[in-house]
Amino acid sequence: MQRTARVCAVITEETTAGALRALQESARVADLAEIRLDYLRDFDFGEPRNLSVFLERQPLPVIITCRDVDEGGHQALDNDLRLRLLAEASRTADYSDVEAVHYARLIELGADTSRLIVSYHNFKETPADLDSIYDRLVSFPAAIHKIATLAQHASDCLAHFKLLERAQRERRDLIAIAMGHRGIISRLLGPSRGSFLTYGSFGREKESAAGQLTCREMTRRYRIRDLSTKTRMVGIIGRPVAHSASPAMHNAAFAETGLDFVYVPFEVDDVNEFVRRMILVSTTESGLDFRGLSVTIPHKSAILNLVDELDPIASAVGAVNTLVIDHGKLHGYNTDVRGMLAPLAEVLSIEDHSFAVIGAGGAARAVICGLKSRGARVEVFARDPARASGIAGDFDVKIKRLDDLHKSEATVLINATPVGMHGHSEGVSPVSPDVFEGRIAAYDLIYNPAETQFLKDARERGCLTLSGMEMLVTQAAAQFELWTGRSAPVEAMRKACLEYLAES
Ligand code: NAP
Repeated sequence: MQRTARVCAVITEETTAGALRALQESARVADLAEIRLDYLRDFDFGEPRNLSVFLERQPLPVIITCRDVDEGGHQALDNDLRLRLLAEASRTADYSDVEAVHYARLIELGADTSRLIVSYHNFKETPADLDSIYDRLVSFPAAIHKIATLAQHASDCLAHFKLLERAQRERRDLIAIAMGHRGIISRLLGPSRGSFLTYGSFGREKESAAGQLTCREMTRRYRIRDLSTKTRMVGIIGRPVAHSASPAMHNAAFAETGLDFVYVPFEVDDVNEFVRRMILVSTTESGLDFRGLSVTIPHKSAILNLVDELDPIASAVGAVNTLVIDHGKLHGYNTDVRGMLAPLAEVLSIEDHSFAVIGAGGAARAVICGLKSRGARVEVFARDPARASGIAGDFDVKIKRLDDLHKSEATVLINATPVGMHGHSEGVSPVSPDVFEGRIAAYDLIYNPAETQFLKDARERGCLTLSGMEMLVTQAAAQFELWTGRSAPVEAMRKACLEYLAES
């Protein structure tokens, strides 16, 4: 039986007043709240009755947790005081969460097992024998059992889904979580597979465990309460993917169109293993109904070997940024070409211009392929022309030294390097400002920040400027259309992208 997802806000405030405020506010985004006592700096841990401050007249059920440092706790506390507090919490709070190793002592202290959450954590890995860990854990009578392990691979989430299935068959309440960035789907899909609850942070920078999303992200962006085992899956595979704007854009599009799809980030190291265990109908262990994927760095080329059919544009570019999964077959596309061309064509006539592309990586290949398909003249400028020589043959273009850019007669300069990107080299330009003298336009594929140093220098020299934001939205809209067969709600996607970038 499936129930509506319960979201538990984890409160990691350092003061009692802050925690009480957070408790009140969390009722707006969560169904339960967990107070992490081990974060509090002003709490008298020697007096269990002080717990009542968190339990009286609260707007939602409260879980009291106070972790030992070895179990992910935030400060060293006397273990006996800690366990006395947790025993008291089991009698007075809605739930008290205690590590399995301390179960016997909790019973000695008179704990009420009907309100205990007995938990097992592993911050190093997801052990192969989760079933035997589950067997040991459930031998301790409790209201709920909880297993949280670090995901080293996205596919580690599958072991948690299997445990949830087992717990449902055995009619036990279980919380199963794969922690870390690679475990995000266990947090998002766990409740639809029977997890008693899923944890969310109360705000950004307030996470109690790696990979935790905020409650707001889970409920608004991922619509966790609407997800079911029937929800169709799409997502992004790459490394890293934690800061991708794509989940915000695509989930906004699904919400706008009312489609039962969810778009999830997958931090993937081994793309072969991911496709085999999660996607391919003949080998999948996931039971997830994948309709497609966005593919990003570093997997755009490796995925070429795994597709059953390759779209001619993706074949010409030599990279796939979109997979469509249809009747068990993988179809590879490249929507970066359309994404790059459409905003450019809005502001100038492509065939009337000559282009200097800076950089010779994956995005540059899409740019060159697109421009050449429109009959434009293109030169490529690379810091190491020898390394970029493959592009010369693939697209019949000249590769020149980046230092010689000032000699180029191109009317439009395109930055296809990451130089100037937020979190990489913000404020830096790959070229000196004087190269913009006499040019018509500058296009930076980077979308964060909206105005890079490259574009600022160009604007100050009278060039028309174009950021990568429209490319990002346009290529995502093309993906949406490939996956759903419907026209994309571009305005909703653009709005979500702008909001995401403003927040980040
Ligand atoms: P990539 O495959 O890693 O290629 C990066 C290229 O930049 C390489 O040719 C690299 O040269 C060059 N480069 C790196 N640092 C440089 C420096 N300091 N000076 C000169 N050249 C340098 O990356 P990519 O996938 O092509 O992505 C490039 C940029 O495009 C990223 O910022 C990405 O966010 C952006 N992008 C935007 C969109 C969008 O939708 N707006 C889509 C795709 C990509 P070497 O080979 O010498 O290292």
